[in-house]
Amino acid sequence: MGRQLEPKIIICCDCKQEFVFTVAAQEYFLERGYNEEPKRCKSCHTKYKKLQRSNNHSQVEQEPSEVHIVE
Ligand SMILES: [Zn+2]
Repeated sequence: MGRQLEPKIIICCDCKQEFVFTVAAQEYFLERGYNEEPKRCKSCHTKYKKLQRSNNHSQVEQEPSEVHIVE
C-alpha cells in the first residue's frame, strides 16, 4: 500500500457547502483514471446529472459513468 490517500474537504461549486471527497471516492476516481476532483457535492451532482440528462439526451449514452461519491 504505497498510496496515502486522505479525505479531502471540497467546496461545492453549486451550493458552496463543504463536502468530503472520501478516500473510497478518490480510489474510485483513480481506478477510472479521473484526474479531476469532483466539483459538486453528492446532491448537487445528482441534480446536475439530471439536468444534463434532460437537456441533452443524445450525450447520455456516451457519458463515461455515473460518478457516485461513496460515503
Ligand atoms: Zn452542492
